[in-house]
Amino acid sequence: MEEEDITEVMIVGAGLGGLLTGAILSREGYKVTILERLNFIGGRFTSFDKDGVPIPTGAVHMIPCRWGPMKRTLIDRLGLPIDLIDIGRPAIIGKDGEQIELGASGATKLFIKSLLRFSYATRVMNSIYEFSMGLKGHEIPLRERVAFMLRAREYSHHVTPRGGTKTVIDALVKDIRDNNGIISINHEVESIRVVDSGFKTNARGNEFSSDIVVANCRPPALFSLLGDDSKKLGSGFRKRVEKNRPVPGIKVAVVCDHRVCPSSITFTPFLQVISGFSEPTVADPELAGGKHLLLSHQELRPGPVDEQINAAIEDFRRFIPDFDESCQVIATQVFRGVYPVNHASQGHDFAPVTAIPGLCIVGDGVKPKGHIMTEGVARSVEIAIDHILGGV
Ligand SMILES: Cc1cc2nc3c(=O)[nH]c(=O)nc-3n(C[C@H](O)[C@H](O)[C@H](O)COP(=O)(O)OP(=O)(O)OC[C@H]3O[C@@H](n4cnc5c(N)ncnc54)[C@H](O)[C@@H]3O)c2cc1C
Repeated sequence: MEEEDITEVMIVGAGLGGLLTGAILSREGYKVTILERLNFIGGRFTSFDKDGVPIPTGAVHMIPCRWGPMKRTLIDRLGLPIDLIDIGRPAIIGKDGEQIELGASGATKLFIKSLLRFSYATRVMNSIYEFSMGLKGHEIPLRERVAFMLRAREYSHHVTPRGGTKTVIDALVKDIRDNNGIISINHEVESIRVVDSGFKTNARGNEFSSDIVVANCRPPALFSLLGDDSKKLGSGFRKRVEKNRPVPGIKVAVVCDHRVCPSSITFTPFLQVISGFSEPTVADPELAGGKHLLLSHQELRPGPVDEQINAAIEDFRRFIPDFDESCQVIATQVFRGVYPVNHASQGHDFAPVTAIPGLCIVGDGVKPKGHIMTEGVARSVEIAIDHILGGV
């Protein structure tokens, strides 16, 4: 490309969505700048080391689908050197402690029975919904539950990146920088203006011009950043902002001397508050320095948070008979507000392509129908990229 032909792209946020977008566009010859408000890169899809154990900032090291948009983008499209370990099927711990392998046909039967209000099936499906979307079944629109179940075959084959989520982020960052992209941390975007030539983005007293803006921040935050120009997003967008409810949740990280779960993903419908565990070390034994890493997930309910965390520890004790001798709690995390489990509750997402030419949104506020978690993020990136490469 000639210098004057280069299209400049500003990406607001260096989460998974912003980095996937940045990696693809910088490969395509776009001049990519990514501004991140926090002092680290990766948002809710990376980890911090604590005594050799990678404590996730969000995602519990799992990618829900072996051949979905994440694999398509990271491996097929970008060819990044990431080893996705197949973790096999998830498991359910039944009422009497029995271990049940969950395949697509079993999940479909449970789904149908839950629609017919069988109590066992409803309870199991609720633990699956809660673990995957942070919500109970009745809080998710039926069309979205159906779309989720139509992908049951894909979602019964999770993978985990060897070395954890941070290896994905590190590979994306290297790729973007190798292709002359810029990523700056501690740069909170404060406003975006729509101008004749594109956009003016302000951060830390500097103004950045670009032809395209891709927002990886929460859609309601984008609405605020645009000020008066937010009207150009249309009344439908404003109504969604008013209705938007980020999904909260609680996670407890525990290291254990021995393996605990039958699978890397195990749903626990009969515990008091924990809907399921992720034990990534079942698939990736080197992840936590030879120990086992167990990450629980539960809803954040109204009422004192401390009590809910204590209830989770009691659930750990119920689940692991020698918990006090063999396990250690290393982190308790509460996700809510601007740092939730999901920026838009499943089925109430915004669209990746906005009414403002040149402005797209990526991330877990714009998950397309039937796509959960990082699969939704990666699919939103595919849609935004197709739109941008198609010429906006
Ligand atoms: C507890 C928990 C467990 C999860 N488990 C899994 C799992 O096992 N598997 C899975 O697939 N998914 C899981 N998820 C979901 C997954 O983590 C998210 O879907 C994904 O990380 C979201 O990526 P994102 O890019 O949309 O958002 P984010 O990671 O939030 O990235 C957005 C970035 O934008 C930045 N930003 C916001 N505003 C501004 C601004 N004004 N200026 C500059 N920067 C800004 C933010 O700081 C952030 O870094 C889990 C999430 C949580 C919380």
